[in-house]
Amino acid sequence: MNKPAEIKLETVPVWINGKALAPSGRHGEVFNPATGQVTKKVVFADPGLVDAAVKAAAEAFPAWRDTPVLRRARVMQKFLQLLQAQQKELAKIITEEHGKTLDDAMGSVQRGIEVVEFACGIPQLLKGEYSENVGTQVDTHALRQPVGVCAGITPFNFPVMVPLWMFPLAIACGNTFILKPSEKVPSASVRMAELFKQAGLPDGVLNVIHGDKAAVDALLSHAGIKAVSFVGSTPTARYIYETAAKAGKRVQALGGAKNHAVVLPDADLEFAAEALIGAAYGSAGERCMAISAVVAVGAAGDPLVKLLEKKARQIKLGVDMGPLVTRQHRDKVASYIDVGVKEGARLVVDARQQQTPQEGFYLGTSLFDHVTPGMEIYKNEIFGPILIVLRASTIDEAISIINKNPYANGTAIFTESGGAARRFQNEVQVGMVGINVPIPVPVAFYSFGGWKSSLFGDLHVHGTEAVKFYTRTKVVTTRWPHQDTPAPGFDMPTLG
Ligand code: NAD
Repeated sequence: MNKPAEIKLETVPVWINGKALAPSGRHGEVFNPATGQVTKKVVFADPGLVDAAVKAAAEAFPAWRDTPVLRRARVMQKFLQLLQAQQKELAKIITEEHGKTLDDAMGSVQRGIEVVEFACGIPQLLKGEYSENVGTQVDTHALRQPVGVCAGITPFNFPVMVPLWMFPLAIACGNTFILKPSEKVPSASVRMAELFKQAGLPDGVLNVIHGDKAAVDALLSHAGIKAVSFVGSTPTARYIYETAAKAGKRVQALGGAKNHAVVLPDADLEFAAEALIGAAYGSAGERCMAISAVVAVGAAGDPLVKLLEKKARQIKLGVDMGPLVTRQHRDKVASYIDVGVKEGARLVVDARQQQTPQEGFYLGTSLFDHVTPGMEIYKNEIFGPILIVLRASTIDEAISIINKNPYANGTAIFTESGGAARRFQNEVQVGMVGINVPIPVPVAFYSFGGWKSSLFGDLHVHGTEAVKFYTRTKVVTTRWPHQDTPAPGFDMPTLG
């Protein structure tokens, strides 16, 4: 019998000190979710390789830190141009490894590119403060200095955008960086590192390693790393925050979400339903800012559910919505349909009744109505194309439901009442709020982040909070003595 020919798979390398490396050792599999086939293997870094990346970043740090900020900005501008030129190529890599549609992938790359545009303004962002004559012949100034070697650990759902939330600003601030993207979608990060080198970034300033918990743990326990940015699920975010903080590192760890949209009876229901469909099922529900729970208030309920049902049934698999990222994730999401039925929610649209392509990790749309806060389909972040509707009698009840939920990433309200919207934005305990905007992801020059179990740490990503996260302030008090300067005394100086 003839042996089947062995298919040689492409290997996704790590990127250390400006070079792609593919040593033997542990590897992971990369799938194309649209076909269900393994398409590549990816190097999993062991502690030795992680250490090599940290060493490269530590060696590159002093020269990069001391590179004039205008020159750092120019490298950033060149990187911006290369990203713009390669936007489609990056989007294609996302579609092949993550599964989202090409248009959706293009949009997500664009949102990442906007952070690089913001990072090009780093000379302005790093300006310090100066006060003259804070005491007799004494001046004080505050300056921002980079923290050193930083690490970023990112999730599978935005293979380009989330890494771009982190490393461009960290590097613009004068730090060096080690990126550990999700092992499910590793290729785009390596491609971005190549482009950054082409833009003139010195070797060692950006390094990319791959792997699972073992690689992450090696980063968290490495004394050479001073700050860790994380985006992913809440249990991992909590673990990263606690472990890295205990090791003395600065940490920001963004977690999962259950994002509610409140629809008031005065809202334009057609507009709201259209917005909610995109927000719930776009990217197959695999967005941390996806609307996964609608809270329909009073008379809005029945007509809204009718509209959502009609629109959810019109979504075309493979055209409007791609597959889920892995078979395991697809099966987990699908299992929530049985859970919801068992719990007594009304299943209005059922993915199990819809035709799906034979191959790949596809799942159609599902819609539940009359869900209550005690149900598992409400309590868990499903992260797939299942939208649930809760009913509330008043806006107070709707706000109370949201404020009792442990997640607090994003939320939205649909209404024509300015007063109701203003009250909502004031009272809701959530980090990002949309008013007639279903996915209120802040633009790059504002900061992104949730509250409660959606973020561990204080500072959000991108915008000016990121500049604070990736720098430390130093305050310098100066006196240049000359003949008339009084000599420093023995008592506690008051300077005045
Ligand atoms: P995940 O937590 O499984 O993985 C995220 C990263 O952590 C990956 O790089 C992974 O390799 C690593 N990791 C996984 N388990 C680990 C462990 N036990 N110890 C150490 N490292 C570990 O998340 P995911 O499934 O890749 O991404 C989906 C999740 O990310 C969802 O919960 C989503 O809401 C969340 N997310 C949040 C935001 C946000 O801004 N808040 C943005 C995007 C995604």
